[in-house]
Amino acid sequence: MSVKILIPTPLRQYTEKKEVVEIEGKTAGEVLNNLSSKYSNLKKHLYNDDGSIRSYINIYVNEEDIRYLQKEKTSIKDSDIISIIPSIAGGVNVQEHELETKTKIDEIDLTNEEILRYSRHLIIPEVGMIGQKKLKAARVLMIGAGGLGSPVGLYLAAAGVGHLGIIDFDIVDQTNLQRQILHTTKDVGRSKLDSARETISEINPNVKIETYETRLTSENALEIFSKYDLIVDGADNFPTRYLVNDACVLLGKPYVYGSIFRFDGQVTVFQPKDGPCYRCLYPAPPPPGLVPSCAEGGVLGILPGIIGSLQALEAIKLIIGQGVPLIGRLLLFDALKLKFRELKLHKNPGCPVCGEHPTIHELIDYEAFCGITPDAQGLNGRQDQITVEELKSKLDKGEDIFILDVREPHEYEICNLGGYLIPLNDLPERINELDTSREIVAHCKVGGRSAHAAAFLKKAGFKKVKNLIGGIDAWAAKIDRTMPRY
Ligand SMILES: [Zn+2]
Repeated sequence: MSVKILIPTPLRQYTEKKEVVEIEGKTAGEVLNNLSSKYSNLKKHLYNDDGSIRSYINIYVNEEDIRYLQKEKTSIKDSDIISIIPSIAGGVNVQEHELETKTKIDEIDLTNEEILRYSRHLIIPEVGMIGQKKLKAARVLMIGAGGLGSPVGLYLAAAGVGHLGIIDFDIVDQTNLQRQILHTTKDVGRSKLDSARETISEINPNVKIETYETRLTSENALEIFSKYDLIVDGADNFPTRYLVNDACVLLGKPYVYGSIFRFDGQVTVFQPKDGPCYRCLYPAPPPPGLVPSCAEGGVLGILPGIIGSLQALEAIKLIIGQGVPLIGRLLLFDALKLKFRELKLHKNPGCPVCGEHPTIHELIDYEAFCGITPDAQGLNGRQDQITVEELKSKLDKGEDIFILDVREPHEYEICNLGGYLIPLNDLPERINELDTSREIVAHCKVGGRSAHAAAFLKKAGFKKVKNLIGGIDAWAAKIDRTMPRY
């Protein structure tokens, strides 16, 4: 008997690019074992050394998580579909989840201008004057004014949310314009917050906008979050996701989660009071390098438009207290097939932050937790890294340096330093192509994957290996301005 296993995008590189694999087996455990015997490179991504399934991987049979069935003993029928859901990073009646707002609606009035502006809301019974006042009373914080933040900001402002907080510290660059529709070509070089404030005010001058031009950190998150009723997460990295989750759980605030990668999107609402949180779903982050960011992996421009719009929709439903929110349900979107699927999420009683006996009572160091600081990866700070200026001067002096490019072949085609190409994921099998006696500088696009590669090579006994800080992007920005950036 064989069943279909759906392989998620980040893991397809280990299944000969197949999205669906048919595998024999009577239980979930047997099927996964047979899958990893067939595709041996997949095994280390699915299992820990002790043979248990890794915590950033969830296995679903149809729409249910096997942790809430019979785990690996869950029996499998012919028609079942097994999904592997790595972190990319029950229907409940919404009335019970109505948002608590700091401002009460009896303190709110609508002007005649506002009544006219929101007339198409006011004539829907489910919104009406009360719903519109709830929107005006609401204080929503957006994490990021990028791809997801763009539709979130535009639609929440247009809908009449009274207060929008936006946290971001980036500058608009040319590569943002393909999807970040808060910003236009003339905004390149401006701060994203200035550009977002201008666009949102043009759509609806009634919205009060508060901006925070800073990186969200463990030091400032609780103070900023405490001023808002609802958080909408448009973060593009794992440390921020865990930080947003833990801060929301500690403060008891709901948040709308969205994530995107190439053609795949995920949306859900985490309601820490009685629903699951992000750590219930993914107790630990994936190892650095496994799941590339949008900067490294790419994203179809319209995808954040769709996922961010769904996030805005969930935010509005929570505020007006109508409909069935995505609490306890993870919505998966496949843009290429135009398919939505829905998986059940459960509150994990053993969750370290929202469970019965939590072990996390305050915010932690999330970069270290996600293993993305050079030290956490086994690199010894500055000593194991090199700047583009230092590399240039060594090359100019004619020093013998082996440049190892760990990007993908299609990135190499865009621009390269003439380095030797071994994509990060192929490095373990192709390590014998490298000479331990030579001085090696590993680089990727911005320095994340190559830090992982350099740490891996050091562990394998390479002594003279360094990571190029900022990657080829820094080279194009500082050394060779004729080189295309992407
Ligand atoms: Zn939890």
